[in-house]
Amino acid sequence: MAKNDLTTRNLMLDSLKQYAKNRISFNLIREHDAKNEIPLDILKEMYDHDILGVHLLLIPEEYGGLGGQTTEIYRVCEQLARIDLGIATGVFATFLGSDPLNVGGTPEQKAKWFKKIAHENKLVAYGATEADAGSDLVSLRTRAEHVIKDGKVVGYKITGSKMWISNGGVADIYTVLALAPGGPSWFIVEKGTPGFTQDAHEDKHGIRLSNTAGLAFDEVYVPAENLIGLKEGQGFLQAQAVFGYTRLMVAAFGLGGGEEAVETALTYAQQRIQAGGPLAEKQGFMLKLITPHYVRFEAARAYIDWTMLPNRATKPPKMQSKPWADLAIRKNFL
Ligand SMILES: Cc1cc2nc3c(=O)[nH]c(=O)nc-3n(C[C@H](O)[C@H](O)[C@H](O)COP(=O)(O)OP(=O)(O)OC[C@H]3O[C@@H](n4cnc5c(N)ncnc54)[C@H](O)[C@@H]3O)c2cc1C
Repeated sequence: MAKNDLTTRNLMLDSLKQYAKNRISFNLIREHDAKNEIPLDILKEMYDHDILGVHLLLIPEEYGGLGGQTTEIYRVCEQLARIDLGIATGVFATFLGSDPLNVGGTPEQKAKWFKKIAHENKLVAYGATEADAGSDLVSLRTRAEHVIKDGKVVGYKITGSKMWISNGGVADIYTVLALAPGGPSWFIVEKGTPGFTQDAHEDKHGIRLSNTAGLAFDEVYVPAENLIGLKEGQGFLQAQAVFGYTRLMVAAFGLGGGEEAVETALTYAQQRIQAGGPLAEKQGFMLKLITPHYVRFEAARAYIDWTMLPNRATKPPKMQSKPWADLAIRKNFL
């Protein structure tokens, strides 16, 4: 996809909206939420090239993807969040899981794995977090030991565990952070590799349509060619580079989910009659419960847009174009 290709971007967003309208009803979401179940058939359909091929967005064009730029990723994540945050997380996990390859893979690794993900519609997961290594990834305990043959490192044996991994129980391909002799490193592990098991899906409070599971590794053998970048000790640098994208995606989730929630509240406010008229016509209701959220969304969008400027100013711009934004700033809503 060419940079700033507005037509393609809008086409993609429209297809996503149309698909959600036809296939993902509120009842479907509610049923899966009650059962704490990922709608795997929906996710697979969304990956289908003839339907949406949503996973192609992050894959470079030379490997069969769409090569979406950050703006496309942000807008698609926003739209996904409007559908359902759990479904959005299921798609996001594939973006996230592919990212270590994006930022650190060799051209041969990218060709091999991206083509597999693109053409075979593979679900991917990103395995960094452990029981004692959340924000503090330095406390990582999962180890990758050398397997040596004829004096040469031919592979690694991974032992340890991960927790709270999105798509953890359903992915086909996993990128896994482990401590190799040369330092933290990312490895690619395929589902079904002997010694690799997935725990039961967590019973979460929210985003219940997203599968979240622990992973266990008992001397799981991966060939040396599955070490991302073919150099040990690059794991934290690569994870940091990945976070550059994921922070944007998570911000887009907050924006999309928030906008959808307030629009739902607004529709209700137009229908709900109290004291002789709809709630939407009552200043006390609108100015307290609806407008401040819209102001914050505009501020969030301006801030997200600002983070993507290539030569951005040192401070985010002040919103001056809309009178209500000035009013909100004066009233300390922002
Ligand atoms: C639904 C869900 C899906 C997830 N999916 C994935 C996934 O796909 N892959 C993956 O690898 N991980 C995943 N995670 C894990 C997620 O990345 C971690 O939860 C996150 O890194 C935070 O780690 P933690 O939960 O251990 O919190 P902690 O590290 O215990 O932090 C708790 C709080 O303390 C604050 N804090 C921590 N350290 C400091 C400090 N030094 N100074 C000040 N404040 C601090 C944190 O900001 C946070 O608010 C998922 C988690 C959830 C809930």
